[in-house]
Amino acid sequence: KNFTRAKELMTTGIYPYFKAIQSGAGSKITVDGREVIMIGSNNYLGLTQHPKVIEALIKAAEKYGAGCTGSRFLNGTLDLHEELEEKLAQFMGKQAALIFSTGFQTNLGTIATIVGRDDLIFADSENHASIVDGCRLAFGKTIKYKHNDMADLERRLKAHSDVQGKLIITDGVFSMGGEIANLPRIVELSQKYSARLFVDDAHSIGILGEHGNGTASHFGLVDNANITMGTFSKSLASIGGFIAGDEDVIHFIKHFSRPLIFSASMPPSAVATVIAALDIIQNEPERREKLWKNTKKMKQGFDQLGFNTANTQTPIIPIIIGEDEKTFYFWKRLFESGVYANPVVSPAVPPGLSLIRTSYMATHTNDELDQVLKIFEKIGKEVGII
Ligand code: PMP
Repeated sequence: KNFTRAKELMTTGIYPYFKAIQSGAGSKITVDGREVIMIGSNNYLGLTQHPKVIEALIKAAEKYGAGCTGSRFLNGTLDLHEELEEKLAQFMGKQAALIFSTGFQTNLGTIATIVGRDDLIFADSENHASIVDGCRLAFGKTIKYKHNDMADLERRLKAHSDVQGKLIITDGVFSMGGEIANLPRIVELSQKYSARLFVDDAHSIGILGEHGNGTASHFGLVDNANITMGTFSKSLASIGGFIAGDEDVIHFIKHFSRPLIFSASMPPSAVATVIAALDIIQNEPERREKLWKNTKKMKQGFDQLGFNTANTQTPIIPIIIGEDEKTFYFWKRLFESGVYANPVVSPAVPPGLSLIRTSYMATHTNDELDQVLKIFEKIGKEVGII
């Protein structure tokens, strides 16, 4: 009852959260009965609306019904789940894969299961919240290293070189800043200090790598990431998550992961969605190419206008604003002007580095992107950011 901050923002008209969208997740969406350009989605390849995806999910619902009503461990494993796991293992170049009902649960249910009491986790300070919570749930201790700072990671690994069980955990692409993790150096350090490596590829699948198969593939290091995690809620157009790794590790996790064993499995329509989306990712590379074309256009556009886009290298382009209030105001002006983006404040980003998170899709048209840049220019000048 003492929590008043959100209500204060509501009163001043700059509260941006829980806004109901009245349409599908396209490049244009309807909110409050008005059409706006969407640059706040993780639907990177636009597959939520793909006709083959929709057809696959309808067929699965017709064959299997609406849900599985049980966990993978007991009555909730369908042949469809196993088919998806086989396809994911192949796609990721690993022996085996295991799917969970959300990406968040994947991180909780993997990290907490494999890290024992005497083990240590070395975690990037800007890892996603689900990794942070997975680390909290694990019995072993977590040591944070400065964001993408390899000298700091090495210092900390060196200080604990006597510990046997060490796991480095990093986002492959950082979800707010859009940078790619320095995986080549992380791999060198993991080898030098005998640590294992866990990479969260939530924002890399479908985007990075030769076939859209993630950060390790982008660097030619598939065999060096012991476990790769991904979600289905972004390029793969649905909900759920997976890990890919060695057969015996996956086998162990299947028998000890509480978020897997004590939670119901992904519904058939969602599994069929991901199978169809995975097929499209591999067979329609032009979507990934278009996404990168749009990304380059927007990064160049924002930089030319004088916005601070931090160190992004991917379709996630943050526009650094600084203060929370100013960020909320910027968001409101964008929304009024016909653009939907996401305001991000602490603790999702470090205090004082609040930002507008923009992210692009293969399905954005040139015209839509030009309009976005024009609107940002106008508001940027209005609030004194550029
Ligand atoms: N990891 C990262 C890096 C993420 O950005 C997210 C979602 N924002 C997750 C994990 C959790 O995935 P999901 O939303 O699919 O549960």
